Amino acid sequence: MARHKEVPGDQIARGLTWRQLVELEACARCGECQVWCPVYAQDSRECISARGKLALLRRMVGGSLPEGEFPELLEGLFECSACGQCHVVCPVRINTPELWEQARQSFAGAGISQPENQVKQLTTIKGFNNSYGKSQEERGLWARRAFEAGLLKRPVPLWKERPSPVLYFAGCTASFDPETQPVAVQTARLLQEAGVEFSIMGSEEPCCVGKLRRMGDLDFAAEAQKRIGCFEEMGVKAIVVSCAGCYKGLHSDYTSLWPGAQRVFHLTEFIDGLIREGRLRPGGEVPLTVTYHDPCHLGRHNQIYDSPRRILQAIPGLRVVEMPRHRAFSACCGMGGGLKVVNPSLQHRMAGARIREAEATGAEAVVTPCQTCYLGLLHGVEEVSSTLPVYHLNEMLVRSVCPEVSREAVLAAFSPRVSA
Ligand code: SF4
Ligand code: SF4
Repeated sequence: MARHKEVPGDQIARGLTWRQLVELEACARCGECQVWCPVYAQDSRECISARGKLALLRRMVGGSLPEGEFPELLEGLFECSACGQCHVVCPVRINTPELWEQARQSFAGAGISQPENQVKQLTTIKGFNNSYGKSQEERGLWARRAFEAGLLKRPVPLWKERPSPVLYFAGCTASFDPETQPVAVQTARLLQEAGVEFSIMGSEEPCCVGKLRRMGDLDFAAEAQKRIGCFEEMGVKAIVVSCAGCYKGLHSDYTSLWPGAQRVFHLTEFIDGLIREGRLRPGGEVPLTVTYHDPCHLGRHNQIYDSPRRILQAIPGLRVVEMPRHRAFSACCGMGGGLKVVNPSLQHRMAGARIREAEATGAEAVVTPCQTCYLGLLHGVEEVSSTLPVYHLNEMLVRSVCPEVSREAVLAAFSPRVSA
């Protein structure tokens, strides 16, 4: 890793946009970002808050940051989930998540390496085309196993054999992680219930590489272009993703590179549309009071607040109570921005705080439509020794529409599991 005195501030500045350089100066030092930052709530050092990071970065690009304060800048920059809460509450509207990601990229360009565990994860993604370091041959096995187990009405076709109006992009997590494979199976079944014609890419489905952007990897744009070329060649019309991280990647990150990014939909938007068109009818009672956790990548970053709530409200018997921090003020569970790989115990504490907030509503469970938040919140349950159940939103819907595809049913059918 290059040391600070070997890295002139103007080199870091060249990696930022003019707007971002102005934003460094624009901070009013009001401290509102500190009040709301979920990381600062666990680690109240000035360098952790947006105000602290901006001050250190400002001095770095201005050439006046003492060498001894450089480690604080790196800690502040990388111990951040890029959740965007500071952007929402900032009276100057500094686009902090963009700034943090761009600063990480600028640092990488100046030869300052990312934290070791982030480097490992980036190397895995680029080497294996997935973040689990698994063989891509295993990627679509969930669909075959689910059909063979009677969980799907029909086999899910591979795109190369039968292109369809919709590509279901399952993502690395639901493809490989046994805990979240039920999300992929349930998504496929719900699409079948609604009569949607769709295909998957199976072993050819790539990682969306959103994590490369989150962690400031210099290869992000080149890797994204490869995937865009592939989607164009396939003639993809619409992509449905069930992961909030993939949505942030394929929809938000690709927007400046690909007009087709506008045809990438998160499952909650898509399912909400199917329910409103009468193609999917939640009929079964689910007598449960739940509270809803907004994933940062869907909520603050993409303003998808209403469609998941409409889905829950469409389920007979289900009641939703809100946490004090919801919608644009939803407290991050700590799974984004590469924070978890840098400091897992910090993520656990952040998620634990969120679980405590969920418990205080009196809800019987917390529901989220993101498999990464789902895993993150489970860490939170363990952290604070809670008994509060955590569900992916799909679970609520299948209990109403097709209960035979419950999470338990999928896990039982997949045992021994698909993973190696
Ligand atoms: S992006 Fe989120 S975690 Fe990072 S400084 Fe802002 S509020 Fe804190
Ligand atoms: S809320 Fe905005 S203006 Fe206020 S200290 Fe934080 S970054 Fe600066």
